[in-house]
Amino acid sequence: MKIHFHGAAGGVTGSKHLIEVGGKKILLDCGMYQGRRKESDQLNRHLPFNAKEIDAVILSHAHIDHSGLLPMLTKNGYVGKIYCTPATKDIMEPMMLDAAHIQEADAEYFMRKKRLRKNAITPIEPLFTTEDAEITLKMLVSKKRGEKFEVFPGISALFINAGHVLGSAQVLLEGDGKQLAFTGDYGRKNRKIIRDPDPIPSADAIITESTYGGRIHEKMEETREKLGETIRDTAAKGGKIIIPSFALERSQEILYDLHILFNEKKIPEIPVFVDSPLTTKFTRIFEKNADVFDDHTREYFTDNGKNPFSFSHLKHTKSVDESKQLNFRPGPFIVISASGMCEAGRIRHHLRNTLPDPKNTILIVGYQAKHTLGRKLVERRKMVKIFDQMYPVRATVQVMNGYSGHGDQNDLLENITGIKDLKKIFIVHGEPDQQKLFSEKLAKKNQDWEIEIPLPGQTFEV
Ligand SMILES: [Zn+2]
Repeated sequence: MKIHFHGAAGGVTGSKHLIEVGGKKILLDCGMYQGRRKESDQLNRHLPFNAKEIDAVILSHAHIDHSGLLPMLTKNGYVGKIYCTPATKDIMEPMMLDAAHIQEADAEYFMRKKRLRKNAITPIEPLFTTEDAEITLKMLVSKKRGEKFEVFPGISALFINAGHVLGSAQVLLEGDGKQLAFTGDYGRKNRKIIRDPDPIPSADAIITESTYGGRIHEKMEETREKLGETIRDTAAKGGKIIIPSFALERSQEILYDLHILFNEKKIPEIPVFVDSPLTTKFTRIFEKNADVFDDHTREYFTDNGKNPFSFSHLKHTKSVDESKQLNFRPGPFIVISASGMCEAGRIRHHLRNTLPDPKNTILIVGYQAKHTLGRKLVERRKMVKIFDQMYPVRATVQVMNGYSGHGDQNDLLENITGIKDLKKIFIVHGEPDQQKLFSEKLAKKNQDWEIEIPLPGQTFEV
């Protein structure tokens, strides 16, 4: 079995691991690079392998940095199956169509800008179109977690709950007498809504994520209290609370916590707006997949006929006009909007409007990749650029890492320690400092493990 590392190797985004096994080429994830616009566009435009030579794709979960280049793969001639879990399949439809829409809208925006500046016009092509996304969606084949399936004769795969987002899975690939595990993105225990990750029984090697390989998270239980405190303080000043949030999972977790905080009268009954059509769609998919909710969610909400994601003063904005109206509305109120790293979507309009006023709070509840607008807010830059204009950051920027959907060092270590017969560990999906810290921790834990931090383009044999 050979592993070729292409994306999320030596970095976080662009997950792509190509496995040669049983005479076939199997791609684990096909994610998009995110970060500096020009740099990631270049990386995304050129697939590092021939799409026509790939025999099958196994997708760990629907996040764009794991799934976003699947339409590029089909555009470049891939015709095989894309295996994923049933909930991931549900999520992929709005996810891919939204990604294609962003591609098309961005290309149009840059063309318009070029024309205005009278630059020589070389057409800017979107990475892929809605049509490419629609073709990709037809190739999805769903397989339940916990049920081993045949990918090709002699090659099998098994999805194991990863506890990261709805539908997320670790992958156990078997062939040529070897077992290779892949964490995808690994979650954590006691998450809200979804169940805890399940263990990987045995594997010869594992490709593990390491987003927080060198850190220990705040306790999950403390996040709701902290959220309540921020809302109370900002509401008392009459300010607006803007929450840039990943449309998938994080937004539903925030709604779930707000629902409990309102129920327990820990925050004033101020209006809450979900201003992201994609978040609204994903919330409906959560409601449909209530069978995978954890015990607390069932006991507190669904067993009593209550919907965790719905309460009386919550509104999902429908039109762009409704969204724009929020700019003129006096605080206090809460807006949950996407994208989570503030790189696209309606969140940029809200930030432009609220950043200059010290009464307001920007609440960062998710991971912010290097060079994104969200990361610049986390770094507390004094000025930030939005739509080519500079804006002063006078609002409070509050960072809450406790909501992270990624396990911390202890979670990642526990997942690996439980695997029988493990010999080799490949650390991916982390910034260099986190990878190094995690690798040192692993080396201390078991000196027999062979540990690698692969770089893009490197190949290893198992
Ligand atoms: Zn993810």
